[in-house]
Amino acid sequence: MKRGVLAAAAFAALAPTLLTTAPVHAATPAFELVAVQAAAAQGWPTVNRGDKGADVTAIQYLLSQHGYATDADGIFGPGSETNVKKFQSAKGLASDGDVGPKTWAKLIVQVKEGSSGNAVKAAQFQLTANGYGVDVDGKFGPDTEKETKAFQRKAGLDADGIIGPNTWQALVNNAGDGNNGGGGGGGTRADLAKHLRDDPDAVLLNSHVSGRDHAASTARANIVDTAAGRPAKTSPWSDVGVEDVTLNINMLRGMVKLDTEKGYSYRVTAIAGGDHSSTSRHYRGRAFDIDTINGRRVGSGADHRGFMAACRQFGATEVFGPGDAGHSTHIHCAW
Ligand SMILES: [Zn+2]
Repeated sequence: MKRGVLAAAAFAALAPTLLTTAPVHAATPAFELVAVQAAAAQGWPTVNRGDKGADVTAIQYLLSQHGYATDADGIFGPGSETNVKKFQSAKGLASDGDVGPKTWAKLIVQVKEGSSGNAVKAAQFQLTANGYGVDVDGKFGPDTEKETKAFQRKAGLDADGIIGPNTWQALVNNAGDGNNGGGGGGGTRADLAKHLRDDPDAVLLNSHVSGRDHAASTARANIVDTAAGRPAKTSPWSDVGVEDVTLNINMLRGMVKLDTEKGYSYRVTAIAGGDHSSTSRHYRGRAFDIDTINGRRVGSGADHRGFMAACRQFGATEVFGPGDAGHSTHIHCAW
């Protein structure tokens, strides 16, 4: 009996740190950290399920080009995800369904005058999304070449009219944040992040609940980076080491709406940073944790049920809080 009480007391003393940093499983030993892929291409956005817009359309055309027929509807749904996974495993990549730098590198196809097919449609769609309007007809003719050169000049690239890796990357980056899903709470990824950055009702923790020091991966740094069009960072002690991740736009929209539509003020303790379970959506920029709602701590009188329901209403598909193992003092909402 006594022993149990002592153990419980010891656990309670540790709990605030352990539970907020390792929501689902215990902290992962440092030896499991993977090396940072320094050689990975920089500057490609990570696009995945739930995203919408020009980058998604381009990915869909490119999947079709590679033989994985996909509707080019600009919505990254289950069908697109399945085809991305098939493509990834055929190319020897981790089949996680996320189109990040390595998958982009295999998906893009060099196109130039005389080329035809779905890769040309992808390029034409991206040119148009960047303001260089061309017919999306899959035929790389003189008009497409002329607009390609105009885009390349504007982007500071060699104006050779050939859409290779550098031009693809510039097209995707410049058009990519047109990922406006439409409806309320619209805006680009950067716009939504700016709202959160400047919103006094969305308090973004500028440190780590574990007490560890990595300024680049705090909740606040993740949002400041996203507002500036930069990728967010994960933490060196996480399962993935320090990686660049793109915050999911639907999650950002949900975070904004929790304030603007539901009137919640809340404190975000982690987004991409911190240590989580090994396959956590945090590491993919698709989850955030909060520990305070309207000035009350989660688990100490805060309206956690209402907040969790609102996360689900705004599209979260994985929501944990008081009553779920490891979540007595924080809420986890993931997209
Ligand atoms: Zn979490």
